[in-house]
Amino acid sequence: MLLTTEAPAADSDTLAFIDREHKLLIDGDWVPAESGETIDVKNPADGETIATVAAGDKADIDKAVAAARRAFEGGEWPALTASERGRMLWKLADLIEEHLEEFAEIESLDNGKPRAVAAAADVPLAIDLFRYMAGWATKIEGTTIPISVPYMPGAEFHSYTLREPVGVVGQIIPWNFPLLMAAWKLGPALATGCTVVLKIAEETPLSGLRLGHLIQDAGFPDGVVNIVTGYGETAGAALAAHPDVDKVAFTGSTEVGKLIVKAAGETNLKKVSLELGGKSPNVILPDADLSTAIGGAANAIFFNHGQCCCAGSRLFVHKSQFDQVVEGVAEQAKQIKLGPGMHPETGMGPMVSQIQQDRVCGYLESGFAAGAQAVIGGKRAGGEGYFVEPTILVDTKPDMDVIQEEIFGPVVAAVPFEDPDELIAAANDSIYGLAAAVWTRDISKGHRIAKQLRAGTVWINCYNIFDAALPFGGYKQSGWGREMGHEAIDLYTQTKAVTLQF
Ligand code: ADP
Repeated sequence: MLLTTEAPAADSDTLAFIDREHKLLIDGDWVPAESGETIDVKNPADGETIATVAAGDKADIDKAVAAARRAFEGGEWPALTASERGRMLWKLADLIEEHLEEFAEIESLDNGKPRAVAAAADVPLAIDLFRYMAGWATKIEGTTIPISVPYMPGAEFHSYTLREPVGVVGQIIPWNFPLLMAAWKLGPALATGCTVVLKIAEETPLSGLRLGHLIQDAGFPDGVVNIVTGYGETAGAALAAHPDVDKVAFTGSTEVGKLIVKAAGETNLKKVSLELGGKSPNVILPDADLSTAIGGAANAIFFNHGQCCCAGSRLFVHKSQFDQVVEGVAEQAKQIKLGPGMHPETGMGPMVSQIQQDRVCGYLESGFAAGAQAVIGGKRAGGEGYFVEPTILVDTKPDMDVIQEEIFGPVVAAVPFEDPDELIAAANDSIYGLAAAVWTRDISKGHRIAKQLRAGTVWINCYNIFDAALPFGGYKQSGWGREMGHEAIDLYTQTKAVTLQF
């Protein structure tokens, strides 16, 4: 159901920020794109242009990388102690917390997600991430290593390792969790002492730009964080190919991830970490507590309108309970009110863009053409905004695009199973391996299946549980490396082995 009543306006401070001229943050200054070009930013709930931002391209990326290089090599930043870096990150977290409501409104207007969800999840998770990484700044340690050196009998040595920042980092983020993705990227990079050029998504640049102002307020020296808005094919590609960038960290589609790897390989073999797509299996076993599993299955796919790389988009249910579960999830879908993110009753906002709406609907059409049926939903929801109805597909076949490819929308394919061994094979039948879940009352079975599922995250009797301390990343074509947790520190440091002969 599409809400038709008017949504309340955002706070005047939020609107004043959105209204201002948005430039690029390079070397501590806000500057227009060299080309003078801009990008219109739309509110996906009504398609109206709410702001224009600079369209940075290669020339701006070159300037930003040069600034990040200067900040990495000399001046204030490398001279700071780990404790001082940690305190700056903590200060940044405090500043975001002071502006929590403003960020929630910006995310809602720019991305389309419900304001209340952004205020309860996106922004607090970003704050927590910066605090968690602030703690890591003082805990990045090497080891001492006893060595033997067989070809130098009798010689004595002292060997140890240093964990050093990897250098100038290019970070490219998507539009589904704009502030949170910026936090996942910036937190560990700054905790370890790297400098950054952050390319934020062209669809949702506003919270990243607001964050840029707070980064300055938190006292980070000029050039440590540079923020460039611009298109992927120009600014993003220039960053991935830049010969003076030491590492690129990317979150987005597997298709673009492959282009990033190619660009890194063809230029300076910069380090690459990738958090890519998914087609996550969500498995409900016959002994599951259906009262929680059904709600969990709905949340797994409909949270953030299915625009989550870990969305539970393939729902496997035992044949004996298939109809009951599908009906239960359909009932939940029916209750979801579609509307602008700013409307207090909105359960699900629009897709982020017309392109995304068309993409999701294209998948639905291809599924129907191949024989799939919609139990509920299955089309655009009307109105000016880019809404798609929450959809449950049945009668799918394993080789259909709707089963194999990431739709990135509120579309779940429900698949019945009978034999548990076939279930595991079907769940793992994907080029992706980002997340998975299993619902069961049998603890041993839950853990056994968790081991059998080829995914970087497995939830048992829950879904979409995130914490700054938990590593997140993909098996197979879902990515390289893990973000968050202590593994994120490894992504932004490199090891130096030092040996002294007595
Ligand atoms: P989605 O399909 O979800 O929009 P993308 O992978 O296209 O995800 O985009 C994620 C991020 O990657 C965005 O910031 C986008 O601008 C950027 N991007 C897109 N194409 C390229 C590219 N060829 N090189 C580098 N970055 C890109």
